[in-house]
Amino acid sequence: MSLGLFIIIFSFLVGITVGSFVNVLIVRLPGGGDVVFEESHCPKCKKAIRWYENIPLLSYFFLRGKCSGCGDRISFQYPLIELITGLFCLLILPKDLTLPYLLTFSLKLSVFACFLTIFVVDIRHQIIPNYINLFLFIVLTLVSLFLFKWTHIVLGILVGVGFPGVVTWAFYKLKGQIGLGMGDIKLYGALSVYLGPMGIIQNIFLSCFSGSFVIGTLMLLNKVKKDTKIPFGPFIVLVAFFQFYYPDYFNQVMKVFLFSIF
Ligand SMILES: [Zn+2]
Repeated sequence: MSLGLFIIIFSFLVGITVGSFVNVLIVRLPGGGDVVFEESHCPKCKKAIRWYENIPLLSYFFLRGKCSGCGDRISFQYPLIELITGLFCLLILPKDLTLPYLLTFSLKLSVFACFLTIFVVDIRHQIIPNYINLFLFIVLTLVSLFLFKWTHIVLGILVGVGFPGVVTWAFYKLKGQIGLGMGDIKLYGALSVYLGPMGIIQNIFLSCFSGSFVIGTLMLLNKVKKDTKIPFGPFIVLVAFFQFYYPDYFNQVMKVFLFSIF
C-alpha cells in the first residue's frame, strides 16, 4: 500500500472513531453524564452495547439501525456524526506521519470535534457545555502562544469577551431581554485567543447577524415560537469553521462582502 493511500485510510478511521466520541459528548454532556468511564447502553432497554456493536459506522449498518436487545431504532445521528467527522479528516490530511504533521492533524480534529458538539447540543438544548468551552480555551491558548504575539491573544480576549458582554448588558438594560447567553460569550472568549481582535469582531458580527436573520425568518414563518431563545452557538462555530480551516477563502469573501456594503 502506498503511503498516500495509507494516510487517507488512517485519517478516515481516526475521524470516524473521534466522531463516535463526539456522539457520546452530544448525548451525555447536557445531562451531566460521565463521558469517559460510563458504559454505553441502549437508552430504551438499557442493554449494554458490546464492543462489536460499537464500531463506528459499521455497527449501525450490520445492526440495520436497530438495538439488538429491543429492536428500537438507533438514532441516525450516530452514523451521520461519525461520517461527517471522517470526511472532515480527509480535508485536513497530514502530509506524512511524522510528529509535527500528526500534532497539527490532532489539533485541527479536536477543535472540529468541539465545533460539531456545540453545533448539535446548542440546537437541541440551547446550552453550550462549559467543558467544551474550557477545552477550546486551553487548546487554542497553547496553539496561539506558539503562533502569535501576546498582544494578539490579550486584545483578542478583551474584545471577544468585553464587546459581546457590554452589548448583552446594554440589551438587557434596554429591553429586559437576554440576547446572548453566558455560553455564547464564553465561546467568543475561547475563540478570541486564536482569532485575535479583528477575527473575533468579524465572527461576532457575522454570527449575530446570520443567527438573528435565520431565527427571525423561522419566527415569521411560525416554524419556531416567538419567545424562543436563539441558539447562537451553531452560527458562531459555522463562521469559526471557515476562519480556522479556510482563512484565505474567508478573507476573500469578507472583502467582497465589505465592498458591496460600502
Ligand atoms: Zn434496546
